[in-house]
Formats: sequence, structure tokens, C-alpha cells
Amino acid sequence: MNVFVTGGAGYIGSVCVEELLEAGHTVTVFDNLCEGHRSAVDPRAGFVQGDFNDRQAIADAIAAARPEAVIHFAAHALVGESMTNPSKYFRNNVAGGVNLLDACVASGVRKFVFSSTCATYGIPEKMPMDESLPQKPVNPYGESKLMFEKVLSWYREIHRIEFVAFRYFNAAGASARFGEHHRIETHLIPNILKVALGQKEQVDIFGTDYPTPDGTCIRDYIHIADLAQAHILALEPGKTGFYNLGNGEGFSVRQVIESCQRISGRPIRAVEKDRRPGDPPRLVAAAQKAYTELGWKPRFPKLDQIVQTAWDWHVKHPSGYAD
Ligand code: UDP
Repeated sequence: MNVFVTGGAGYIGSVCVEELLEAGHTVTVFDNLCEGHRSAVDPRAGFVQGDFNDRQAIADAIAAARPEAVIHFAAHALVGESMTNPSKYFRNNVAGGVNLLDACVASGVRKFVFSSTCATYGIPEKMPMDESLPQKPVNPYGESKLMFEKVLSWYREIHRIEFVAFRYFNAAGASARFGEHHRIETHLIPNILKVALGQKEQVDIFGTDYPTPDGTCIRDYIHIADLAQAHILALEPGKTGFYNLGNGEGFSVRQVIESCQRISGRPIRAVEKDRRPGDPPRLVAAAQKAYTELGWKPRFPKLDQIVQTAWDWHVKHPSGYAD
């Protein structure tokens, strides 16, 4: 298929583009490079630098690429930042997304795959979390993604765009070529690995008084190559709906630090800090629906496997895409 990928220069997008190309698809990446990196775009893909907050720019790019499907990764995705700057999240993740959808309608795109998040559920009533849980976000990031899920449902009804929305749990790991490099790193695993690499003195543990066995937050870490595979399956005709993507196993912040210590063989200094606003205590997926309806099966389900791929990439690219 001819696929148009927003955010294809970003962390998850770069690996999905690589996997799409390996699967024989043709890819155009559209990215404003505010978070992404030009060198994270697979050279086999076309590249357009642009911003979908500019309605004309995205309409022109979609009209020129004439894609059969659009995969929409581009977004702001930091829980903490969304608690201080909600405007940034609603403008980009909701209004910008509507510009993209309108461009799809104008160019007759029929298939749309959207990166949503487990943050749309808020503090879940049961664990593990399936797709039927009520969605009550506790931060503007999660709210912005939920709003766009609703926009998509209306566009499906009115404009007949078939969509798949994936609610990612915690994306982690790397492929051999592409990995995680944010200009300001807030994510847990890369921050721990920076300590192992000697680039940071310590990792902060945000909150040790959560109602979890060791008092730190629990998350379900999922390898980005496994996320990418789900997107490829979603392109098949007739696939539509909302799917959780996670491994179904939760790890606390302390357990993730231990895994990074095991894999890197280096000591990691961790310092206990206050809670970070907007963090739910525990998020673990029930992803059975993606298994049965899409035929999805993670290839890197173990935390140590995931951390190993991230460590290998960071060792090879100590300055990320800056080198
Ligand atoms: N976290 C932490 N120290 C860090 C970064 C994150 O303790 O330096 C915690 C964070 O509070 C959350 C978990 O690790 O409970 C995962 O955070 P991350 O930002 O990686 O992903 P999120 O769950 O926010 O999408």
C-alpha cells in the first residue's frame, strides 16, 4: 500500500516506517521535526517537512502523496508537560489532527490508523484493563487523545473513513537502527540507561507512596517493533476499532531500574522524589482483542528483552541522533 505516516521521524514512527518498508509498502513521512530527527527517517521513505497545524500544508502533502492509508503518530505525548501546558496538547493533538482528517477526506483516503493511549482510561476501575473500561483521563494528554478518538468515530460515520485506534501502553526498546532520542528526555527507561552510560548522575523515582507492592508506579512496557507490527496488521481490509497494545504484565519503577542494572551490568543511582502530577498508580493491558481480531502477537514480550534492545541502541548511539 501507499502509506502516509505523520510523525515518522519520531521514536515509534521511525520503527514503524522501517517495518512498513520491510513489508513491501511505500511510505511518505510527514514530520515537523520539532521532536523527530531527519536521520531517524529510513532513507527508503519519502520525506516532507511540514506541520499539520497549517491546514494548507497538510492538504497539499496528502494531495501530492495520494496515500491509500494514513498512520498518524505525530503528537505531543508527555503527561507531565500536559499538566502545565494543556493548550499545546489540545491544539496539536486535537485541532491539528482534524486538519489531517479533513485533508484525508478531501483526497479520498479510506483508512486511518491512530496512536491513542492507555492514558485515555485515567485511573482504571479494574486490572488488567480491557477496551470496555470507562475512559476518564486524569491529564490533558489523555483527554486530547480521547477527544480525537471521538472525532474519528464521527468521521467514520459521516465520511466513511475506516479507522483503527491503538491504545498504547508504555512504548520502549529499539530496533537495530532506530531508537529513543528525545531532546528533553522524560521517559523512564532512557533516563535510567543514561545513568548507566554515565551521562546522568542519578535517576529520580517519582513517588514511592503509591498503593503498589513497592510504592512506585506500575506500567506495562511494550516493544516498539511489536507496536509497529500491529499497525501493519491494521492496514488489512475490514480492520477497524479500538485496541489496547501491551504485554499484560506490569513492572514497577524499581523493577525497571533493576532490569536496566541487570542488562547493562552497571550500578544505577536512584533517588526517591515526590510524585509527578497526572500519573496513575498502575496501568496494565488486557490486549486479547488485538490478539484475536488482528492476529497480533508480541515478539519481544519480556522486559529484559525490551531493555536489552534499548541498551544496545544507546551504547551504539551515545548521543542519539546527534552523532
Ligand atoms: N518515572 C520516574 N522517573 C523518571 C521518569 C519516569 O520515576 O525519570 C516514572 C513515571 O512517574 C511513571 C513511569 O516512570 O510512573 C513511566 O513514566 P514515563 O514518563 O516513562 O511514561 P508514562 O507512563 O508517563 O507514559
